[in-house]
Amino acid sequence: MAYDTNNIFARILRGEIPCQKVYEDDHAFAFHDIKPQARVHVLVIPKGAYVSMDDFSFQASEREIAGFIRAVGKVARDLGLADPGYRILANHGDDSGQEVPHFHVHIFAGQRLGRMIQPR
Ligand code: AMP
Repeated sequence: MAYDTNNIFARILRGEIPCQKVYEDDHAFAFHDIKPQARVHVLVIPKGAYVSMDDFSFQASEREIAGFIRAVGKVARDLGLADPGYRILANHGDDSGQEVPHFHVHIFAGQRLGRMIQPR
């Protein structure tokens, strides 16, 4: 799938759409999810144009990957989540229900999170 430069997260990165920013560095940008699914629900996205986990893990440089993963950990740590705990999640493709075609990691926290996925 080709990267759509007008997807909503690309527009947030360009500052065309407002967001509740949490963190930014050379490789990553983090903001609160507009429809939180837990008491804490933050999204962390790479600054590069990657559609999903599949695209990012295949095409991104070691530097981008390391920078991004460090940023996810830092955001969670800086929000005070390392001790109580948190969950990270990334959707890729149709079966996962991925809605926004710019790679993003969800951070969920602030409550008991229950089972990882709903039983069938
Ligand atoms: P996914 O289903 O993994 O693609 O997740 C997309 C997430 O982006 C959902 O949790 C949405 O609530 C969130 N989202 C969509 N638009 C915005 C926005 N403008 N600002 C913040 N979060 C958004």
